[in-house]
Amino acid sequence: MSFIQRLVCTIVPKRIADEIESESREWKLTCAGCSASRSVWEAGGIRWKAKGSPVTRTLCAGCGQVTRHDIARNLPRAN
Ligand SMILES: [Zn+2]
Repeated sequence: MSFIQRLVCTIVPKRIADEIESESREWKLTCAGCSASRSVWEAGGIRWKAKGSPVTRTLCAGCGQVTRHDIARNLPRAN
């Protein structure tokens, strides 16, 4: 866990911390260069109660470059 993730999980109740983690895992960062994707949570970030499809520049775990990443919510399929 990153510093910010530990901090948030320390100050909010467990139920909320679990909700933040699962929601952050649903948001995927996708590299515009190599299409590698990982969740916001895996990238050490938090995304909660958020909407839209923002774009950010961050280090890609796939190609190792700082590239444009699209952030999109990948909802789990309801069965
Ligand atoms: Zn990449």
